[in-house]
Amino acid sequence: MLIIDGSSGEGGGQVLRTALGLSLATGTPFHIDNIRAGRARPGLLRQHLSAVRTAAAVGRAEVDGDTLGSRSLSFIPSSLVPGEHQASIGSAGSAMLVIQAVLPALLVAGGPSRLVVEGGTHNPSAPPFDFIARTFVPTLARMGADVRVTLERPGFYPAGGGRVVVEVGPSPLRPLDLVERGAVRSIRARAVVSAVPVSVAHRELRVLRERFGLEREALICEDVKLPVGPGNVVFVEVECEHITEVFTAFGEKRVRAEDVAAAAGDAAQAWIDGGVPVCEHLADQLLIPLALAARSGGDGGRFRTGPVTLHTTTNAEVIGRFLDVRFSFEPTASGGAGAGTLVSCA
Ligand code: ATP
Repeated sequence: MLIIDGSSGEGGGQVLRTALGLSLATGTPFHIDNIRAGRARPGLLRQHLSAVRTAAAVGRAEVDGDTLGSRSLSFIPSSLVPGEHQASIGSAGSAMLVIQAVLPALLVAGGPSRLVVEGGTHNPSAPPFDFIARTFVPTLARMGADVRVTLERPGFYPAGGGRVVVEVGPSPLRPLDLVERGAVRSIRARAVVSAVPVSVAHRELRVLRERFGLEREALICEDVKLPVGPGNVVFVEVECEHITEVFTAFGEKRVRAEDVAAAAGDAAQAWIDGGVPVCEHLADQLLIPLALAARSGGDGGRFRTGPVTLHTTTNAEVIGRFLDVRFSFEPTASGGAGAGTLVSCA
């Protein structure tokens, strides 16, 4: 059994999610201690517990330590069970992170799967549904993955109540080649309000329209029908020749709508100025697909991103415990626009 130290590197939930996904994909049992020791509230929160339980169902696993707050866990998978699965987080914990934990297994399972997850679909510090749908899944599709995601209902912190469906076909992965971003083709802005006055969305869109010189057709305002709870999120979607990236900011009490929109705009502008195709979030999320491609064909491919985050290096280390693959992180000069890193996996 592999012994994983959950406090290593960043010491967050990613160590657990990556271990779950690759334990299932490789059939390797593991024991993890110090779960999320680097976080203010360590141990298993509802989101992580839900990931553990969903992973256990997908891999007919024997589990010990799967209780709220638990700081250690043993996970012994037996066989992958594609087909219908569901998870209800029972809070606004991120549904997208539960999906992140089991997706590697569903990609290598011997048949199609459909996973329904209820919880938060738009949470700070997690990939929002729109990033998964517009950035992550299309990049996976370039590697040959057959994945579709559908948002049936958005769920915001703290009420949750969102619902997302993921359909995955068995997908042998090809190496990724994503070194160039290409020219910016279009910029769109979208503001979503849920039980929040629609004027908030209008103010946010006005800021982004002026900042990026957007036409009316590039502005989308969405007022959630039958909201479960209050929420507000702003996206700036930058479509380039080789990649579309989605930058997000969340409305918060006592933060002006204009400042929320400016934060999403700043993130998009920083990425445009940086000149690399892969943003810091996509970078850490692509490591497992690259490793799975390298495992089957010897070469997982490569992509160019900005400075490498601790989240990414931590993830690479955990992946290296389960799979005999090597990541390399080489500094590059990114088209004269600043520091970049070429990430490759073999
Ligand atoms: P935990 O709270 O469970 O300990 P963690 O340490 O894994 O979680 P984070 O480091 O915040 O949490 O990241 C979780 C994941 O969410 C990472 O894959 C990260 O790239 C992704 N993520 C966070 N914010 C965004 C964003 N704005 N867009 C896309 N992905 C995001």
